[in-house]
Parts: sequence; C-alpha cells; structure tokens
Amino acid sequence: MADIIIIGAGTAGLTAALYARRAGMDVVVFESDSYGGQIINTPQIENYPGIKNVSGFEFATGLYEQATALGARVQFDKVVSIEGSFDEGFTVKGEYGASETGKCIIIASGARNRHMGIAGEEKLEGRGISYCATCDGSFFKGKTTAVVGGGNTALEDAVYLSDLCEKVYIIHRRDEYRGDPAQVEILRSRDNIEELLSYVVKDLKGDEKLQGLVLESRKDGSLKEISVDGVFVAIGQIPSSELFRGIVDMDGSGYIASGEDCHTNVKGIFAAGDIRTKKVRQLTTAASDGAVAALAACDLIRSLKSGQ
Ligand code: NAP
Repeated sequence: MADIIIIGAGTAGLTAALYARRAGMDVVVFESDSYGGQIINTPQIENYPGIKNVSGFEFATGLYEQATALGARVQFDKVVSIEGSFDEGFTVKGEYGASETGKCIIIASGARNRHMGIAGEEKLEGRGISYCATCDGSFFKGKTTAVVGGGNTALEDAVYLSDLCEKVYIIHRRDEYRGDPAQVEILRSRDNIEELLSYVVKDLKGDEKLQGLVLESRKDGSLKEISVDGVFVAIGQIPSSELFRGIVDMDGSGYIASGEDCHTNVKGIFAAGDIRTKKVRQLTTAASDGAVAALAACDLIRSLKSGQ
C-alpha cells in the first residue's frame, strides 16, 4: 500500500509529491493528461518568489523532474473511482487499468478552461477557437486575432499575441479589467492591441473555419462585427471536481471545502491548489497548498503508525 496518492500533477500535486517524498513517504501521482497543469501554458512567470522570469513549461518541467527524481511514481491515467476509507485504505482506479491503494489522498486536480457557451464554439475549436495562446498563437502569425476575457490570463495572452499577430482585439464584458494594473499598463503600451470594453461575443462567423465575431455592447445592446482569424478564450476556469462530488464537501461552485491544513471533511482526504475553496489562486498558493497538504497527510499517517 502506498502512503499517499495524489490526484493531479500540476503545481500543487507535484509540490505535495516532493514534500511527501522528502518526508520518506511512498507516493504515487495520478495524472490524466500531461504533467504541469495550467501553468504549463503560461508564457512568462514573473511573480514566483526567487525566480525573476521563467516560462510555464520550464517551471513545470523542473518541478516534475524534481518530484520524480525524489522517487514519486506517476501513473498517467484518468481517475475514475475512489473507494475505501482512512482506516481500511483508499483504492484509486484509473480508466486504463491503473489501480493503487493508499492511506491518504491529496486531490490536486485543478481547474479547466471555461467555454463561452455560444453556438458553434465546440465545432470551431481548433479551427480558429483556442483556449491556449501559448500553444496555438504561432498558427496566427501576421494575422488578426481576438482575446476574450479581462483577467490576468487574457491580458497576458493579448500581449503575447501582439508580438506575433498584426492586430489583436481584447474583448471584455466590463469597463474595468479584473487583471493586475501592471499588466494593463503593458497591454496599453502595445500599438496593435485594440480594446473593446463592455462587449460580449454574441455570435461566431464561419462554418468550417472562424472568420469573425459578432459582438454586443453591454451599454446599449448595439451589435458590431469584427473579422478575425482566431479567437483565444480566456474567461476563467471551472474546477475539475465532478468525480469527488458526494465523496467530499464542496461549495456551490464545485470547489472542495477544506481547512487551513487542506484536510477535507473526510479523514485522510486532502485538497490542494486551485480545486480548493479559497480567494487567491496563484502559482505560489498552489505550491503552498501542496506543501501544507503533504505535511498534514504525513502527520496523520505517522499518528496511525504510532497508534495515536
Ligand atoms: P479570472 O481572473 O477568473 O478572469 C476571468 C475573466 O473572464 C474575468 O475578467 C471575467 O469577467 C471574464 N469572464 C468570466 N466569465 C465570462 C463569460 N461567460 N463571458 C465573458 N467574460 C467572462 O481568470 P484568469 O484570468 O484565467 O485567472 C485565473 C487566476 O489565475 C487569477 O487568480 C489570476 O490572477 C491568476 N493568473 C495569474 C497569472 C500570473 O500571476 N502571472 C497569470 C494568469 C492567471 P469579470 O471581470 O467581469 O468577472
């Protein structure tokens, strides 16, 4: 039996793995996709303490290599079931047959991109609609693109695309951005970015390939059409927590409720990173949660071993 099973190899999960391994625990990490989580798509990280500038890919790869070099085992399989309890052990099974039993579970499954929910969005994904500027931006070199959203991701994506594209629109539903003022300043220093504030995307133009967007003003309801070759949707995330519904307590938005020590209402199950109910979701807080959850799980396992 493993000591700790971690679900998700993003920043929180891999930090938990490295702390738990350093504490001498047997650790297995389940990951349904590639390692790294959301940060792997970030072009530049400039707010991680002690690192002036690093790409998301470099950061995630360094963390993955650090955790695996310390002996964390990784199962690249999507978790489909969790059974058991702290007293008898938890069994975690994957879609492709991986099966592990452990004393504690740390859920670090993060969040995924929110879609606009507009007719044709699914069909045009990969045909002009993308949710990752760093992954797909280079397909739009010299072209016209739009970014939808007003948070840090949208602001950073627009700046990133402005280096590649001839013109970039940023479309945000309010007059004020949610993202950091420093990032807004960078955005406004770019001549080829046009801000379309208080607009929402109403319709998508193009059958086989995206050709344009119909926007609706939130001020007077008027419609406006723009021609674009691509649109990058950056309107936030939704928690990847469906599997855990009915197992642990969640808030109304599907984030997992936990205490300061990341312990959920179920003994032996912890939550770390973006999946947790909390106010600040940053790389630093994901790493912090990973450490806190791992050390709390280690304490619980030691208390079991010492019979307390
Ligand atoms: P976010 O901060 O939640 O922003 C989402 C944006 O999308 C908001 O501006 C929101 O508008 C808009 N939005 C939400 N639903 C919408 C809809 N249905 N239609 C149109 N617009 C919609 O998400 P994020 O930018 O992905 O950032 C997530 C977290 O990661 C944040 O805490 C952010 O600070 C952090 N982050 C940090 C960095 C960094 O530190 N380098 C980089 C990227 C992200 P409203 O403003 O009107 O709600």
